[in-house]
Amino acid sequence: MNDKPTTQTDQNANDQAFAEAKRFFPGGVNSPVRAFKAVGGTPLFFEEGRGARVRDASGRWFIDLVGSWGPLLLGHAHPDVVAAVRDAATSGLSFGAPTRRETALAQAIVAAFPRLEKLRLVCSGTEATMAALRLARGYTGRPLIVKMAGCYHGHGDSLLVDAGSGVATFGIPGCAGVTAATAAETLVVPFNDLPTLRALLERHPDKIAAVIVEPVPGNMGVVLPTCGYLEGVRALTKQYGVLLIFDEVMCGFRGSKPGAQDVFAVDPDLTCLGKVVGGGLPLAVYGGRAAIMDRLSPLGDVYQAGTLAGNPLAVSAGAATLRHLAAHPEALVALEGRAARLVEGLAQAAARHGVPAQANRYGTMFTVFFTDRPVSDYASAKTSDTKRFARFFHGMLAEGVYWAPSQFEAAFLSIAHGDAEIDAILAAADKVLPTLR
Ligand code: PMP
Repeated sequence: MNDKPTTQTDQNANDQAFAEAKRFFPGGVNSPVRAFKAVGGTPLFFEEGRGARVRDASGRWFIDLVGSWGPLLLGHAHPDVVAAVRDAATSGLSFGAPTRRETALAQAIVAAFPRLEKLRLVCSGTEATMAALRLARGYTGRPLIVKMAGCYHGHGDSLLVDAGSGVATFGIPGCAGVTAATAAETLVVPFNDLPTLRALLERHPDKIAAVIVEPVPGNMGVVLPTCGYLEGVRALTKQYGVLLIFDEVMCGFRGSKPGAQDVFAVDPDLTCLGKVVGGGLPLAVYGGRAAIMDRLSPLGDVYQAGTLAGNPLAVSAGAATLRHLAAHPEALVALEGRAARLVEGLAQAAARHGVPAQANRYGTMFTVFFTDRPVSDYASAKTSDTKRFARFFHGMLAEGVYWAPSQFEAAFLSIAHGDAEIDAILAAADKVLPTLR
C-alpha cells in the first residue's frame, strides 16, 4: 500500500471534493463532526476501505481509528459481511414485510445480550433511543427523563440537552429548534455522581419515566464508570420506580463481554444497540423486558414504525458480523490485548515527551485527553486542551493515522488492526508528541 506523504497536488483532490460537496450539503457534510471544524482543514473524502486501512481521494492510505465511528469491529469490507450483503441483495433489497433474516439477527443479538427478552429493529441509534424514551413514557405514564451531561444519545429533540459528541465538539449549549417545553422535560446530572441523581429523583416523585445513560460513555471521549456507580444508578432507579435505559449503541461489543451490562452485571430495563449490530449498514435495536416491549404497537398502545426497519441487507450484515464474533472469541481477546498495548504505549509516550495526557480505555475503544486531570465526567473532559488535540490530530494524519477529528470522541480498533498497525500508530505518536510541547 502506498504510504507516500500527501503532496499539495494530492491534497487538491480532497479540497476539490469538499468544494463540490459544499454546493449541496450544509458545511459539505451529512453529519457535523465529519467536517473537521474542530481541528481545522479539509476533511478527507474516502474512496475505499480494506481491513484497518482507508484510502482517500488523493490515493493515500491511512490506518483508520474511526471505523465509521464504531460499527466496523471486523474492519472494512470483511469478506463474511460483504458476502452476506451480496447474498441478501441478490434476493431483493426491501420488502416492507417480515423476513426470516430478521429473526436470525435477533437470535445472534440475544445470544450476545441475554437480558433482551424482546427487541425491535430500527435504522439508527437516534431512532432507537427516541423510541425507547417514548416507550418508557408510555409504560410509566410519566413525562420527564434524566440523562447524564456529556452523554450523547442521537439527535432526538429531548436528547440534545447537554449532549456529547458533535454537540460537545461545537460547544452548543442547547440546540436551536428544540422548544423550551421539550428541553424542560430533560433533566441532566453529571456522570459518576450518585448523590446528585438521588437528589433529583427525590425532587420529582412520580414524574420521571426513565434514566438513560451510556454505561461506558464514549461521546465525551471514553469515560469509565467508577466502582459501584452503575449498580447505584440501578438501585436508585428501582427505588423510585424509574426505568433504566442503557444506551450501548457505542460501547456494545467493545468490552470483554458484548454488553457493558454483563461486564458490570447491572440489569437495565431497556437497552439500545447500534453500530456493531448493523455491521456497517444502517441498523439499530432497542429491547428489554417483555412486559415493557409488549406495550409496542401492534400489541400495545405505544406507536413506532419504519418502512426500512429490519432491512434485509442490514440484518444480514449485522448477523454476519455477530456470527463471526461469536465464532472467534479469541480474536477479540487478542484485540483487547493489542488495544491495551497501544493505549499504555500512547500514555507512556506522552509522559516521555512531557505532554500532559490521560488515556482512558474500555476494551477496544479509547480516548487520549490532553489534560493533566483524570477524566471521569464531562467537566473533567472539558479541561482538555482542544488546540493541542487539533495539532495532534493533524500530526498523526500527516504520519498516516486517521483519528476522529474531535477531542470528545472515541477511537475504535478492529480485529484487522494487528501488531503492525499498533506499532505504526505508536511510531507516529512518538514523532508527533514531541512537537506538541
Ligand atoms: N447513542 C450513542 C451512545 C451513540 O454513540 C450514538 C452515535 N454516535 C447514537 C446513540 C446515535 O446513533 P446514530 O448516529 O446511529 O443515530
